[in-house]
Amino acid sequence: MSNADGGSDIVVVSGPSGVGKSTLTRLLLEHVPDLAFSVSATTRPPRPGETDGVEYYFLSRDEFQRRLAAGGFIEHAEVFGNLYGTPVDEVARARRQGKRLLLEIDVQGGLQVRRRFAEARLILIVPPSLEELRRRLAGRGTESPEAVARRFAQAEQELNMARTSGAYDVEVVNDNLQKATQDLEGLVRTQGERDA
Ligand code: 5GP
Repeated sequence: MSNADGGSDIVVVSGPSGVGKSTLTRLLLEHVPDLAFSVSATTRPPRPGETDGVEYYFLSRDEFQRRLAAGGFIEHAEVFGNLYGTPVDEVARARRQGKRLLLEIDVQGGLQVRRRFAEARLILIVPPSLEELRRRLAGRGTESPEAVARRFAQAEQELNMARTSGAYDVEVVNDNLQKATQDLEGLVRTQGERDA
């Protein structure tokens, strides 16, 4: 278990809602073939187009709690009233495939990964400014002003928590998608080289 204990083969990407994290991680996975996406478990219901075992493992709350009690998650958190967790098996699966594991999780989860894996690389995706983040959240146009305000407050809190914890190694500003993808790719590739 060379890198197993320190977790130098683990990459965490976090960032507030609306920052473009999912798009960035999707592009990153297309460009870096030795990265495997960690499929989380969640109690939130599937959205249209989501498939069990692809975006998430969709579990009942009881089943999630049972697995949690059995030590089945390397980290977990409650986000917007739903439970989310990274199954221990995801780490084992990536290692069997000789790949590094990419976790797209919230900051509460990132802090738990940091405590458990000292050598994991934790990357925080940040907006160019809070004003821009507020604009992006409102721009989705699918939510009431109250819901947008709630999401924005939550986003700001998440950013503050990540920054004050000191657990994140580096920030990537998502101003221009192409530039942010390049930055992220560079950071992930140098982790691979450092460990080679
Ligand atoms: P969504 O329900 O929109 O897919 O995700 C909501 C939030 O939960 C996002 O910030 C996402 O990164 C986070 N999340 C997804 N999976 C996990 C996980 O396994 N653990 C933690 N801590 N957060 C997760």
